[in-house]
Amino acid sequence: MPRPRRSTYRWGVSLDDNELPRTEDEWRVRLTPEEFHVLREAGTERPWTGEYVDTKTQGVYHCRACGLELFSSDTKFDSHCGWPSFDDAIPGRVKEIEDRSLGMARTEIRCARCDSHLGHVFHGEGFTPKDTRHCVNSISVRLEPR
Ligand SMILES: [Zn+2]
Repeated sequence: MPRPRRSTYRWGVSLDDNELPRTEDEWRVRLTPEEFHVLREAGTERPWTGEYVDTKTQGVYHCRACGLELFSSDTKFDSHCGWPSFDDAIPGRVKEIEDRSLGMARTEIRCARCDSHLGHVFHGEGFTPKDTRHCVNSISVRLEPR
């Protein structure tokens, strides 16, 4: 009997470290196929399709896989790139990894706790005074409105 799919995330509740899945198969049953592809296989949702691209709601964006708070809506800005963009992350919550796939030198960002893929971070584009754009897949996060 296949186990029923369910989301790990409960509104306002996050998983303890010792409840995190240990294998990709465990993640696969906890996430939807679309979530699994982006979060665990470093996929990218198509631009302008994510639910938070133009969201202005105040709140905190949590990791959709483990519930860790990652980004405040205070740092969200309009980049017109087709994905939610933040010029800062909550300190210590996002880790950066060099990504040389697709023949480009980019910096991947992942959840610091569960290692799920969030998107990429870019510097020097001049969008905001912090000059940083965390380009995040909507499906990697979930907004908890303030
Ligand atoms: Zn996470």
